[in-house]
Formats: sequence, structure tokens, C-alpha cells
Amino acid sequence: MAGFLFHETVFGPVMSRRLGVSLGVNLLPVDYKYCTFNCIYCECGWTHKKPANNTGLPGRGTVRKLLEKKLAILQKEGKIPDAITFAGNGEPTIHPEFPEIIDDTIRLRNKYFPEVNITVLSNASTLHHEKVFKALMQIDNNIQKLDAGTEDTFQRINRPSGKLSLDRLTEMLCSFNGKLIIQSLFLRGTDNGSVIDNSSEEEVTAWILRLKKIKPEYVMIYPIDRPTPEQNIEKISFEELNRIAARVNEAGIRTKVFG
Ligand code: SF4
Repeated sequence: MAGFLFHETVFGPVMSRRLGVSLGVNLLPVDYKYCTFNCIYCECGWTHKKPANNTGLPGRGTVRKLLEKKLAILQKEGKIPDAITFAGNGEPTIHPEFPEIIDDTIRLRNKYFPEVNITVLSNASTLHHEKVFKALMQIDNNIQKLDAGTEDTFQRINRPSGKLSLDRLTEMLCSFNGKLIIQSLFLRGTDNGSVIDNSSEEEVTAWILRLKKIKPEYVMIYPIDRPTPEQNIEKISFEELNRIAARVNEAGIRTKVFG
């Protein structure tokens, strides 16, 4: 599957099911996906190898110019977005100038739309870089991925590069001391012929135990929405997601369900 790609560095605003009217910033290449994970449900398709010398990543100056140009147009037209969102064709924090780009974005946001939230959608894999961690502590919506409760399911759904374990990921998420939002996608299906299901009783119980340690502001749960690179995946129903949400709420953690 080629996947759904964003062909611009600054795109939209688009209507997002979770974030409202969102002006997107894609710090990854515009013609292929680049990520530290290789999630079986990724709407961008399968992950490519690391590009040589980070070729294809937009430079800090380019991002700043494109973002300012777009914000100036939106201001002139009186169109106020709900969020400036770092998402796109992979993991935004991979970008070597991510912390500096966040600094630029905060300055531009304060100049054009001080009331607009800055959001980053991340898979938490680069939090060991102190500068990335500090940059994420400065933004309004620090949204981090946690799709599994057990190591086996984490490795099979998210397929992280390197030796990242779910325990290490959980530990890094705990270091935000609650200044984060967790996003979790639920699915059921098979990969390589064996069942994979992060909505099972055992998985959800283990996932909630991790949430209790992380103590996020709230949790966003949602199903697949677009075609997935792994073909044998089924969409979890809204009713099932609501049952999972009820269990999270019982554990004292606020949850939002997106169908
Ligand atoms: S972390 Fe996000 S961009 Fe990376 S593979 Fe998973 S869904 Fe795709």
C-alpha cells in the first residue's frame, strides 16, 4: 500500500476528527514516510529506511517562512484555526531542528494567533533526547502514543526500530509528570496469520495499569479510519471503544472516544 501522504510542509487548515480546524506542519519528506515506528495501521503506509543525511527534510528557515506566510493569510482572511499541529508523514521529533522549530512556532503563534494551541502528535520514541523532551514541555497539547499494554502487542502493532521496549517507553512517558495527553488506537485482526488484538480483556487491563503510572491529562481512543498497510485489520466499533473508555474512567482517568 502506497499510503496517504501529505505533499506539503505546511498544509490545511484541515478538519481533524480529534483536533478541530487544524493547520498542519509536516517536518518529514513530502513524498515518502519516515518514522521510528512501522505501525501495522499507519495510514501513510510502511516505513522507509532512514534517508541518507536526512535528505528530504525541510530546513528550519523553510518551515518558518512557510508557516508565517500561511498564518499571515489566515489572519488577513479572519480564519482562526483551533490548532497548529505537528503531524504528517511520520514522526515529527525525528527532525534534527525540532526544538528550534518549536521555538519559532511559539513566536509566530504569539504574533498571529496567541489563543491557538500548538499540538504535537508523537510516538514518544525520541524522548531520551533532552532537547526534544524540553520542547514538548513548552507546547499546549503534547499528544503521545500508547497502543499496547503488553510487550508482545507493542512490538507487533508498532514495530519500533532499534530495541525500544514498552517498559522503557512507559518510563519516558512518566517523566512528563502528567503534562501529556495519551492517544491510543484500538484494532483487531491478524498479522502473519496470528491474532493481534489490543482490545482484549488482558491487553486493556495491562494498558490501564500503564496509564495509571503515566497519569495523563486525558486519553484519546479511536479506531482505524483509513486503509491500513496490514490488510487483515478490522475496525473496532464505537460501542466497544465506549466500553474501554468506561474502564479508563473508572480508573480515574478522563477519556475521549472518537469513532
Ligand atoms: S508512529 Fe505514526 S507515523 Fe509512525 S508508523 Fe506509527 S502511525 Fe505511522
